[in-house]
Amino acid sequence: MSAKLRSGFYLGKKSVLLLALLLAALLLALLVLAILYGRCARDLKKSGQLLPVAPTTPWANASAEPATRLLGPWDQQRLPRHVMPIHYSLLLWPHLAPGLPEPRTYSGQVNITVRCREATSTVLLHSADLTYQGASVWGPLGDAPANSTRGVPLAELWEALENQYLVLELLETLSAGALYELRLAFQGKIQSELIFSGLFLNTYEDEGESRWVIASQLQPTAARFVYPCFDEPAMKATFNISIVHHPSYVALSNMPALDVSEYKEVNESALSALMNETTPINWTITTFERTLKMSTYITAFVVCKFDYVTTTERGNQIRIWARKDAVQGGFINYALNITGPIFSFLEDLLNVSYPLSKTDLVAVPNIDAGAMENWGLMIFHETSLLYNPEDKYSSKKMQICQIVTHEIAHQWFGNLVTMDWWNDIWLNEGFATYLEYLGLDYIEHIPLDNHFSKQVVLPMLAKENQELNLSVSDTDETRQTDSLIELFNTVTYHKGASIIWMLSNFMTERLFMKALNSYLSAFSFSNAIQDDLWNHIQKVIDEQKDFQLPAPVKMIMDSWTCQKGFPLLTVNFSTGNISQEPFFAEKGEHNSINTWIIPISWIRNGTLQPLVWLDKRSKIFPEMKISDSEHDWIILNVNMSAYYRINYDQKYWRRLAKVLEGDPKAIPSVSRLQLMADAFQLSWSSYTGYETPLYLTKYLEKEDDSTVWKMVLHALGIDSWGFLLRDSELYPVLKQYLLPRITPMYHRYAHLFRESTEALEINPFTIHAVEGILSTACWFGLRDCLDLASEFFNKWMNSSKHEVPVCFSSTICCYGVWRGDDKEWDFLWKIFKQKETASAYRTNIFFALSCTRVPWLLQRYLHYFNDETDPLPIGVEAIRNVARNEIGFWIAWTFASESWSYLPIRATLQALVTTVTTPIEMQMVQVFLNNTLEPEQRIMATDIMLKAKSVNEERKESVTKMIMWLKKNMDD
Ligand SMILES: [Zn+2]
Repeated sequence: MSAKLRSGFYLGKKSVLLLALLLAALLLALLVLAILYGRCARDLKKSGQLLPVAPTTPWANASAEPATRLLGPWDQQRLPRHVMPIHYSLLLWPHLAPGLPEPRTYSGQVNITVRCREATSTVLLHSADLTYQGASVWGPLGDAPANSTRGVPLAELWEALENQYLVLELLETLSAGALYELRLAFQGKIQSELIFSGLFLNTYEDEGESRWVIASQLQPTAARFVYPCFDEPAMKATFNISIVHHPSYVALSNMPALDVSEYKEVNESALSALMNETTPINWTITTFERTLKMSTYITAFVVCKFDYVTTTERGNQIRIWARKDAVQGGFINYALNITGPIFSFLEDLLNVSYPLSKTDLVAVPNIDAGAMENWGLMIFHETSLLYNPEDKYSSKKMQICQIVTHEIAHQWFGNLVTMDWWNDIWLNEGFATYLEYLGLDYIEHIPLDNHFSKQVVLPMLAKENQELNLSVSDTDETRQTDSLIELFNTVTYHKGASIIWMLSNFMTERLFMKALNSYLSAFSFSNAIQDDLWNHIQKVIDEQKDFQLPAPVKMIMDSWTCQKGFPLLTVNFSTGNISQEPFFAEKGEHNSINTWIIPISWIRNGTLQPLVWLDKRSKIFPEMKISDSEHDWIILNVNMSAYYRINYDQKYWRRLAKVLEGDPKAIPSVSRLQLMADAFQLSWSSYTGYETPLYLTKYLEKEDDSTVWKMVLHALGIDSWGFLLRDSELYPVLKQYLLPRITPMYHRYAHLFRESTEALEINPFTIHAVEGILSTACWFGLRDCLDLASEFFNKWMNSSKHEVPVCFSSTICCYGVWRGDDKEWDFLWKIFKQKETASAYRTNIFFALSCTRVPWLLQRYLHYFNDETDPLPIGVEAIRNVARNEIGFWIAWTFASESWSYLPIRATLQALVTTVTTPIEMQMVQVFLNNTLEPEQRIMATDIMLKAKSVNEERKESVTKMIMWLKKNMDD
């Protein structure tokens, strides 16, 4: 599964009203549904296929769990292994037809062949939110002719709700070693439009009409909400799937369709008549080929009215499905062009064939995750698969390439070889994330070496500083089912991928891929635990003599996957001593005794040296002693190939600053980035003084790597220093120090920009960094930068052909408006209101409109975005933007005080106080609050004020200290 797209949503009054209406509609639908359930049940009794011939009474529903039931296997979180599934024969029939998207129910029938491994009279399987029409157990199979197989009498069928089990209590004992068949007829719900789990519905516009699509999302534990099953990743089985649907729709599943024909069994049924009173529906049934042995969470179902484009790669038919409008517009061509080559690339890299003969990639309008890797039927959020051929500037293409590679990688890591249990989900997600970057290198030529460390390792180290209390392989044995989804976190994905990158680096990619091939071949159609991977790596290491590891692979790697956090290395090059300790967000007394076995790659004066290992708390490396010469230097962790931070003694940090000032290119750009990142982080965490990173910034005039710049600008936090613009002492110093350093880099990109915007079709990751350089140069008032903004803004005003590239529009629009008056402002406001303006653009324009220096335009901005009858979060955001404007502080406060009666008080206050810095501002605000608010509101407001005051003071103090240092060291 790919990471979540949305982190949340806001509800305005209108939305709340809408929700209330939806709920009312839902209640009505439930009423209809109750009637239908009755009729469907009757209908099922007529249908030979759907209704099992039950030897015992068919159960109208499973009974509820009695309050006094004895303890049993239903109290365990994991299924007992007495009975294991071998094959499912599954039929699903969503009760939906065009124009009648109600009732949102489906009926289903599943016959599961199981092997009894230990004699038992109780069978447990997963089931949640399903209603049962019939249940029976047949067997033993195989000995007698098929038609004479007898039913095993059923004593009771009930649901153990806490662990989502369906319990079948039998009157006879099943024999060990024998095969049986469980037959279950059931009904379930198609989820509403806000839940994208189980079987769910999307409605959308296409070809000028409203349509719907049904899709499934079952990872990690939603298969049990769609059909009763043994819903654990290690309980693999084969599946024969059939889907009944309206003839104008297409049904898709994991395997190719075997047959599409009329569903005769129900032609005269009450259900068929019910669905459309005037025109009887001739239901169609699509049956699919038998699947390979697989886990339940990657079974998948889609019923849609989409179009597709297709291609064949090494006998694998690839189809990309989407809304017909999107297919017409060519939005799926990029995905079509890259999918086949990525399959072949991974097949060759891993040297394991893809075992299916078809693969569908379906773009649905809305799901929670970016995409889901279901075997042979990957389901994507539209925005993760559709590429607008007009879009030349954004990083969209790269994102699609990464996400498609990620899901294809899962066809091996996850689908073919599956983790035994969810605690090792990193074996799926870590590998899929790592392989994304190999795909990006292969398809879009973005070099792995440079890119992976910048995009994955460094950001992940920064996140772990926030004391994420997680390890890559989850050790919480008691984790509840409903918290499994928490395992799909950034540590699993990005630290998992970083550890894999480290492994591949120290053992070489050639051997690493050999080991992966051995692991994948050994566990195909089966399950593995982390130790299985280590064993296969160990085997490959043992077979060669080129290098030795300091310890068994398991011992080395467990130190990275089973422990939380990461090491900080402290280096003393005058003695050659390197020691390790766990890194903490704030240095101090911690009782962690974790140590890691750490591979250390290193460069001396530009030359790569043999890898060494730190396998204890502290060790002396005589080869790492350096002389007093400024030309003798060492850099550790080449290409950030391992997952740690490094601290040096003060003298050596200065030496590195001097090396950079002399010839920055002597040190590779990834290492320059790491030096900067480590130095800033170590100073924030009190491992070094604040001056350590500042010394390193002195060479920046010669820095031409935009990602290093991006990192430094972010670390300095200039975008949150709005208050400095009003500070006559600090702002000029900062400007005097930083502007000359950023100017060469600015001119480099301004030149490209003016030459032709086509020239900016460079690596979009760079574009993002360049935006930061432009906005900083303009913030310092660099005349050329302001001219550039006006120039481009005016060109755009004169002709829509010169639309500002979206990624730059934040700076260009902001300073275009800043320099202009109401003409520029009105132009931008018009664009903002146009329906077709893309949302990324709107965000930038919304901000840019607050950049004006005309007071009445700021007033207007506040009024336009704060509708008295329907205050929305965007209104509070508008107040925040105006308060940050150099002339906007009092305008925002005046507006807020006049509109206090309808503004959300807490959010508005929080937006306003971020800019309160001086004692006099504080006093005036306090007077205002005392006169305006009710006593209890005043307590809350004062609390917010005091917190903001201390944060602001602290920030100002550290910024002042830093700027004073710059002043002192300006011309050293
Ligand atoms: Zn994934």
